[in-house]
Amino acid sequence: MSCQHLNDLTDEQIIPKANYPVFRCAECILINGRWVHLRICQTCGKMLCCDSSEHQHARRHAEETGHPVISSAELGEQWLWCFVDEQMKEY
Ligand SMILES: [Zn+2]
Ligand SMILES: [Zn+2]
Ligand SMILES: [Zn+2]
Repeated sequence: MSCQHLNDLTDEQIIPKANYPVFRCAECILINGRWVHLRICQTCGKMLCCDSSEHQHARRHAEETGHPVISSAELGEQWLWCFVDEQMKEY
């Protein structure tokens, strides 16, 4: 099984973590929520919280917008995840 979303995304197109001066969930800060890990939407660049977080903003964002692919924003981690195809890819 393969995922066209991940196949289409070249390493050069992946949004660098260095673009973000502050690492925080864009939705949690509005509701005083707490996150565990952070993810970056590769379609619009929004930084949001992971599935282990109470509000799962990255997953909800994908469902609401149709933006399929996130990357991990965690230092030392270099992987992408597609919510549509449930496929992971390291880069
Ligand atoms: Zn996909
Ligand atoms: Zn959040
Ligand atoms: Zn997005």
